[in-house]
Amino acid sequence: MSTRARIPRSSSLRAVAEAARAARACFEHGAWSDGHLRGRALRAIGNTLDRSRDRILRVASRETGLWTNELTPEFDRMTGTLRLFAELASNDTWRRTAHSPRAGARSIGPDHDLRSTLIPLGPVAVFGASNFPLAYGVCGGDTASALAAGCPVIVKEHPAHPGTGRLLFRLARAALRRLGPEAGLSAPILAGLLQYLPNTDPARTEVAQALVSHPDVAAVGFTGSRGGGLALERLARARAVPIPVFAEMGSVNPVRITPRALRARGAAIGEALAASVLARAGQQCTKPGLVFLPPGDGGAALVEAMAHRFRAAASRRLLAPWIAEAFRSRTAEIRAMRGTGVVAEGQGVTAGRGDVREARPVLLEVPARHLRGPMLEEVFGPACLLVHLDGWDDPRLPRPSSLTWTIHAEAGDLHDRGRSLVTLTLRREVERASRVAGRVIFDGVPTGVRVCEAMVHGGPFPATNAPWSTAVGPRAIERWARPVSWQNAPAALGRRGRGRRA
Ligand code: NAP
Repeated sequence: MSTRARIPRSSSLRAVAEAARAARACFEHGAWSDGHLRGRALRAIGNTLDRSRDRILRVASRETGLWTNELTPEFDRMTGTLRLFAELASNDTWRRTAHSPRAGARSIGPDHDLRSTLIPLGPVAVFGASNFPLAYGVCGGDTASALAAGCPVIVKEHPAHPGTGRLLFRLARAALRRLGPEAGLSAPILAGLLQYLPNTDPARTEVAQALVSHPDVAAVGFTGSRGGGLALERLARARAVPIPVFAEMGSVNPVRITPRALRARGAAIGEALAASVLARAGQQCTKPGLVFLPPGDGGAALVEAMAHRFRAAASRRLLAPWIAEAFRSRTAEIRAMRGTGVVAEGQGVTAGRGDVREARPVLLEVPARHLRGPMLEEVFGPACLLVHLDGWDDPRLPRPSSLTWTIHAEAGDLHDRGRSLVTLTLRREVERASRVAGRVIFDGVPTGVRVCEAMVHGGPFPATNAPWSTAVGPRAIERWARPVSWQNAPAALGRRGRGRRA
């Protein structure tokens, strides 16, 4: 695939096969098994993107409807993540290299010398999401972590932002091309490292299917809807040689508030929650979608603070017409269900504009006794459901698995000398939240993801299909590698195994 050639609207199945073969050839060639070279490549991509920052932000904002001030932190996260993985690729600590020398009489089983390390899986197919065109896009976390591990990457274009995707791809390719002569790499080997498959038609799934099914593809990174993630996982399992799919999917991100916290700062919690829901027009996988409210003082203040922010919010363009359509149909479905009510709605769509992508924020409520399955699933867009409980410990409280759970409590809830019912259940609450979520947030909002060692961006199904992994932070690299051990290897080989080469 030439970087200068005009990119077609959609890839042919032949183009998919060629991309997979080029990625495999690049992987087998071994040039990229040098961690320092991979580190340099990732740094070069980050630097090149930085130089085109304003242009990238302009194109992404125009295409997605997200504001520049919403995209700017995402841009910094993208380039910061490229540099984080550049560092990791260069120092090899992520390989978790281990050595068990002969133990003599203490050996359990035969007394062998064993060395183990992580090695890359092979070419990775990356499917980014509509809502984070940068952090989960062509040069986002999946691409950066896979390249850092030594896996060539093939990105399938997202039809919601082809302009942004193509721009990022061209810039990344140019950065790699400049690195080539210095590193002594031929054009095909450079081209095989990062490839891009156009597909502007969301109804055309053949490109994605052919990519996941191709025998030269060794793993899949997916961020998107549950339907999409599961469809690709089924395909990957049905292959003659099944491959892993790491799917980060939708989430409802429940919020719990103790009566004491509600009393102490109901309005402030409501303000913060509304801002979190409305940011990026509610199109965040970490958006708080379900807020469980116990009865008591402060509840009305929280609801009013949220309602005020929702009423003042203007309707916004969502990421794509099909996403706005899905938002309208999901909110209509919930509004039609028994017991639900509308607390507040945002400003209407501007008369005469008739933009099919535009959607109005809506704050809904329902008593716990009327909670039903569809209400416990993600509504992607500017909506939030308040659930009125009969008490903090209402037995009807559901515990849907999610990327995050948020708990608002006061210090007194944990250190109550009288060991009130709330104190006891709060401890249990934290344990239960940890069982159903990847990240438990105390006294904050779930939106805003820090990229760092201790971050877990994952969780049990349906948040992901791989709850043992994280898509954000240095440990994301481990998704693209597998352990191998060498038994009684000559010492010289063992030393090499700890070195830079895979
Ligand atoms: P999406 O519609 O599932 O699209 C994601 C990608 O998968 C696109 O490239 C899409 O291509 C492809 N795809 C979807 N279904 C497919 C199928 N059946 N066969 C083949 N390819 C398929 O999701 P989205 O609208 O972009 O993203 C929004 C969702 O992502 C929300 O649920 C959000 O919560 C979630 N999300 C999760 C995280 C996380 O970290 N957990 C982060 C961001 C977003 P086509 O459109 O061309 O089919």
